[in-house]
Amino acid sequence: MKKIGKNFYLKLMRKNKGQLEKIKEKIKKCKRCQLWKLRKNVVFGEGPFNAKVMIVGMAPGVKEDELGKPFVGRAGKFLDQLLKKADLKRDKIFISSVLKCLPQPPINRKPKKEEIKACLPWLRKQIEIINPKYFILLGEIAFLTFFPKEKLKKFRGKWIKKDKKFYFPTYHPAAGLRFPKIKKILEQDFKKLKKTFL
Ligand code: URA
Repeated sequence: MKKIGKNFYLKLMRKNKGQLEKIKEKIKKCKRCQLWKLRKNVVFGEGPFNAKVMIVGMAPGVKEDELGKPFVGRAGKFLDQLLKKADLKRDKIFISSVLKCLPQPPINRKPKKEEIKACLPWLRKQIEIINPKYFILLGEIAFLTFFPKEKLKKFRGKWIKKDKKFYFPTYHPAAGLRFPKIKKILEQDFKKLKKTFL
């Protein structure tokens, strides 16, 4: 009985890994909005296909577009420091963003509503396959994607439970780089995450 259980689990894992790879190949060819025209790379996200924790950011920046990897620029370096404060290992988390392509022109502008709408099915698909239990939502765009009728101010730094999943909204690390006050709040918020996922 135990053996059947284990085999079933392994099969399911293999299936999920394959599904995620398939989506990755599809996203690379995505032309659902205009951002495909100027992108260097689609930033699919990275992390284990069965991660318990998912980080959702806003959109790739210039460095991410160049390398095709999430959070590898200045905001990414700061995110790494924040993860250390939370005792979280980056390679155990699936790191993603609402948009998978760099918003431009002008470079690094805020995502447009229609871009978010076009890109959202990809994030939904990633969530469906990876099925994380915990989400860390970075910034207002990520927060509003999950809680469109709420205010980030009200929930920042607090856990929200919705449909058996747990969400922790906070500011975006890029905002922390610009405003010392926000940097401090981000550091405090990430300290709260210590021991949460053990
Ligand atoms: N900001 C994001 O929201 N995502 C990235 O991948 C990089 C910066």
